[in-house]
Amino acid sequence: MTASSPISKLAHENAPLEAWLQTQAFCPLPWLHLHVFTDGKVTPCCSNFLHFGRVKEQSAEAIFQGKPANRFRKKLLADEQEKRCQSCYKMEAAQGDSLRTEAIKRYFEVFREKILHTNPEGKIKLKPESWDLRFSNQCNLRCRSCFHGNSTKWFEEAKSLNRTASDKKLIHAFEEKSWKDFTHGSLQTARDFYFAGGEPILIPEHWEILDFLLVQQKTDTLLRYNTNLSTLTFKGKDIIEYWEKFPRLEIGISIDAVGKAGEYIRKDLRWSLFEKNIQRLILEVPHAKIKWEPTISLMNIHSWEKDHRYLIEHFNISPDAIKLNILHRPEIFSIQALTSCEKEQVHQKIEKLLSDLPFSKTTQDAYRALLSFMHAESKTALIPAFFQELERMDRMRQENWQESLPQLLPLFKAYEKEKQV
Ligand code: SF4
Repeated sequence: MTASSPISKLAHENAPLEAWLQTQAFCPLPWLHLHVFTDGKVTPCCSNFLHFGRVKEQSAEAIFQGKPANRFRKKLLADEQEKRCQSCYKMEAAQGDSLRTEAIKRYFEVFREKILHTNPEGKIKLKPESWDLRFSNQCNLRCRSCFHGNSTKWFEEAKSLNRTASDKKLIHAFEEKSWKDFTHGSLQTARDFYFAGGEPILIPEHWEILDFLLVQQKTDTLLRYNTNLSTLTFKGKDIIEYWEKFPRLEIGISIDAVGKAGEYIRKDLRWSLFEKNIQRLILEVPHAKIKWEPTISLMNIHSWEKDHRYLIEHFNISPDAIKLNILHRPEIFSIQALTSCEKEQVHQKIEKLLSDLPFSKTTQDAYRALLSFMHAESKTALIPAFFQELERMDRMRQENWQESLPQLLPLFKAYEKEKQV
């Protein structure tokens, strides 16, 4: 193709990585990646709801080469921003990095050639090489800030609360069609898979993909996970024995708090078993790149600094092995609901953590982005709804937040005092 667009010009010039990172909107994912939601919708990535197609109507290859995907690529070739990519632009403004910039770095050696083979209308004759297939909502936990759409375990409670995502407990992306028909002929050239849930270790199709890769002798495929690591086995298979065979392995562990608080926030987690599972992972799969991936909310913001220190020391894991996920929804759990006095306390604790430990600039930026987000808006009006939700769920689960999350008591007292005024 001719270098008629800013992005094709960069590709023709064989521009260095820095030049690609300075683009406003270009993202390599629509040249490489497909994301399938549990409802069967296909989109460019897990943060972008641009509708490329549905698994029951077309194959992965047809969707990847289809009109909506072409239109999106055409826009990106012009380096024009897309409103559905706002989450990336916002993250870049706050902390410099985003899924987009991570993808530029990850696929730098790969995407130039693909752009050179793209016509000005965004048309390509390529297959996806990077996969994020959310087969189902099968999960063994019912985390407080989660919902039925992401966890089968939430189904009964969601029914009582009238909050079900479907009338079926198990929501499956490939209900009427096999995932093998959908991906037919495309998995042979896969570079990477991202497995998230639900809980991927409990999802049968995840194991089928691992078996497929083993049969094809494609053990150099990059495997990335987001797992709660509360179980290591499924139907007699042991994930550690599989992971040992895949040298390129990144394991993001979703854990929001240590001990009792962790069990409260992620209901059905057993902390002692979780610790044993991590120890086994560290010992038996030393090549795995482990990362904590906490969801930072009103429930753990007070204690996260202490918990992060514990995780670093107890498991001897690098301070930089962390990805902070800031909770935006449900809004009642947002850290923006803290009072200004509590925000200040949290701020000081996190600054102390950053000065005590040898964090890289990237991790420091991520923590500072968390603080900026916390200060950006005041949502104290949500505090009553937050405590009402905790207590409603406590009654259902026969739990008591005051025992598991005592650090919330000052916030609760401030709320009670306000009620009396
Ligand atoms: S820019 Fe961000 S939201 Fe848009 S497709 Fe790329 S990774 Fe997804």
